[in-house]
Amino acid sequence: MVSYKELGLVNTREMFAKAIKGGYAIPAFNFNNMEQLQAIIKASAETKSPVILQVSKGARNYANQTLLRYMAQGAVEYAKELGWEHPQICLHLDHGDSFELCKSCVDFGFSSVMIDASSLPYEENIALTKKVVDYAHQYDVTVEAELGVLAGVEDEVASEVSHYTKPEEVVDFATRTGCDSLAISIGTSHGAYKFTPEQCTRDPKTGKLVPPPLAFDVLDAIMEQLPGFPIVLHGSSSVPQEYVDMINQYGGKLPDAVGIPEEQLRKAAASAVCKINIDSDSRLAFTAAVRKVFAEKPGEFDPRKYCGPARDLMEELYKHKIINVLGSDGKAE
Ligand SMILES: [Zn+2]
Repeated sequence: MVSYKELGLVNTREMFAKAIKGGYAIPAFNFNNMEQLQAIIKASAETKSPVILQVSKGARNYANQTLLRYMAQGAVEYAKELGWEHPQICLHLDHGDSFELCKSCVDFGFSSVMIDASSLPYEENIALTKKVVDYAHQYDVTVEAELGVLAGVEDEVASEVSHYTKPEEVVDFATRTGCDSLAISIGTSHGAYKFTPEQCTRDPKTGKLVPPPLAFDVLDAIMEQLPGFPIVLHGSSSVPQEYVDMINQYGGKLPDAVGIPEEQLRKAAASAVCKINIDSDSRLAFTAAVRKVFAEKPGEFDPRKYCGPARDLMEELYKHKIINVLGSDGKAE
């Protein structure tokens, strides 16, 4: 058993309370490798933004759980080295799908876990979520739960259709499970293809797809039921057109990739939405930068020469999100 407190990490409780009060959101960035982690920590340290490092089950399988934990511990020390005196870094399990996986992460130094039982019937979702909460809270680890179903694909979580969260269920769910935050479904979606062209309209000037707006009426109804309760948005990448264009320009093929417009995320961040998950955007930045190097310098075979530019572009993306979308800069001096 390793406590996250020994690793210098923090749970989400205070982060979320401050974010709701301050009208901003905490970035939750997924990481799978060293370059991504370096970019996240540099961006967070330079902007003094609290940050949630997210590890999915897929990342855990990809990078090895022991290595990931030490990387997170290393991230805290790296942040201090960069001059961030009191780093506010949370290590969070993204989309835990079983009690055993959540328990293993709690025991392994995570400061926060998500139990995603949203695909189960309502009562089973409550029972499993409560079981995880009861265990995690013994160690002061915070728990995110989910109600409603997002469309799209993220690692092993996939669903064809979305079901909005039902506002009439949230009080019962939060009360009976004791969860610390709630991921809801209001039209965000996992992956780089959040909407089909049929769901979108086309901008007559550029020919680009314009996605349908998020269901802010559902969000408002949820906030009315649960005033001041931390709300989480998954699947909130914006799929920046510049990266999609770069990928396509340098030999990739991402037709009609579309995400959530940033102005909608800004609006959400100002509400009780206090954690916004961004994964696909950094995957796109990474891939765009690597493709550019390969296209321009076909003789290049030193991974540092293409992973380095990828890291720089991700760092730029993370800073942009922190400062211009989430508003979390300067909130963890
Ligand atoms: Zn998710």
